Amino acid sequence: MSGRIMTLARLLRERKISCRELIDRYICRIERLNPLLNAYVFTAAKQSYKQAERAQKMIDGGFGDILCGIPVAAKDNICTEGVPTTCCSKILQGHIPLYSAYAVRRLEERGAILLGKTNMDEFAMGSSSETSCYGAPSNPVNLSKSAGGSSGGSAVAVAADIAAVALGSDTGGSVRQPAAFCGVTGFRPTYGTVSRSGLIAYASSLDQIGPIAASAEDAAIIYDAIRGRDCLDMTSVESPSAPSLVETDIKKLTVGVPREFFSDMVSDEVKSAIGAAICLIERAGARIKEVSFPHLSAALSAYYVISCAEASSNLGRYDGVRYGRRIEGADVEEMMVKTRSAYFGREVKRRIMLGTFVLSGGYKSRYFARACAVRESICSAFEQIFGECDAIITPTAPTAAFDKGGNPSSAEAYSADICTVPASLAGLPAVSVPCGLTEGGLPIGMQIICGRMKDSLALSLARFYERAADVRVKLCGEVLSEL
Ligand code: GLN
Repeated sequence: MSGRIMTLARLLRERKISCRELIDRYICRIERLNPLLNAYVFTAAKQSYKQAERAQKMIDGGFGDILCGIPVAAKDNICTEGVPTTCCSKILQGHIPLYSAYAVRRLEERGAILLGKTNMDEFAMGSSSETSCYGAPSNPVNLSKSAGGSSGGSAVAVAADIAAVALGSDTGGSVRQPAAFCGVTGFRPTYGTVSRSGLIAYASSLDQIGPIAASAEDAAIIYDAIRGRDCLDMTSVESPSAPSLVETDIKKLTVGVPREFFSDMVSDEVKSAIGAAICLIERAGARIKEVSFPHLSAALSAYYVISCAEASSNLGRYDGVRYGRRIEGADVEEMMVKTRSAYFGREVKRRIMLGTFVLSGGYKSRYFARACAVRESICSAFEQIFGECDAIITPTAPTAAFDKGGNPSSAEAYSADICTVPASLAGLPAVSVPCGLTEGGLPIGMQIICGRMKDSLALSLARFYERAADVRVKLCGEVLSEL
């Protein structure tokens, strides 16, 4: 069994298909499926064909590698030169960046072809992609279900194969949770290993670009291409290569299972799917160890305090002057108030207000400083666990995909991020892999978290599991009949 990237690369190299034909095929699928799925908010056909021509020359010249000619999509908060990048927000309508993000450049240098930009929650704030100003994407497994978020469009595009692979961004789970909901693999790398240059900021100390792919093998190939130190992001760091370490001896591993991640919040179907996956890993020879992670509920509060605080500062730049749209006013202040009031959505405004509040005089030590202290304790708790375990297994989300348009309260929506925020706060690598289906056929995601810089180990374990379990996710009839 080989991954989607490897399969396409072989077809291209053996001249069974040309780059142009491959792009034709993908664009044709997008035209048929996107009206149903709303995964893409912009396509870049003209540019894709130009890139295909270049990729073909690279292949013909004998120096095209595995990513040459591979069609990729990028979340709409990742800057792409000449292609709109709007964070699915009204405030950035018409914004066309003058440069591409480091991760996009790295892929394009290798000959990958950008198909377009994918749908997301406005400024990556959310878990259902429903705060997008273009309307939510639909889950290709069941159109009435949420695709997850905030990188919902990227997960949908990969699941429906209207992109071979996609980039997402993960602040508190936005790569892993939509991947889990749509039945694909989502990887959040160690913080800093992929440059944030060109990623539009939500919460800078948490934001991380990561791949959403059809398999852990594909995710590893993309991660390996986009990682690396970049002088435009002072927090970026060099990391070990992923594919070179992808063979791991499962018998040497100790896998921790933190009991707090299996509370009453987690549905029975999720619990039993993860339980079965743990049994499979144990039968393969790994040692399973029950561990404790006492800070779980505090992690959620700390995440929302810190992310909103950083967001309130980061989003100050949308002032009607430097980027995007403007509504005129009698003076500068009125112009700013009118612009921000009209063009930011409700959730974004809520978070800016929350963030401003927790940073304000008198409250800073009560909220922000305490959240930072909780973050420290979370890092130590992980350190302690990784003293005795190589990896941790948890659910990616407490349930499979929820209904679209369910309109949960903020507290309900925020608490569904409980399983993904701890790794984000500690900056650790974490991957979500499909590990079973609910009775209704909805995918369930398992999260594998590893220690800092152990990205390859997380991906190797994910790859081992994917191969051993061979979970098959079925797309819904409406999607299949369009093909
Ligand atoms: N759902 C989380 C939030 O709304 C995570 C979002 C993200 O990772 N971008 O903050």
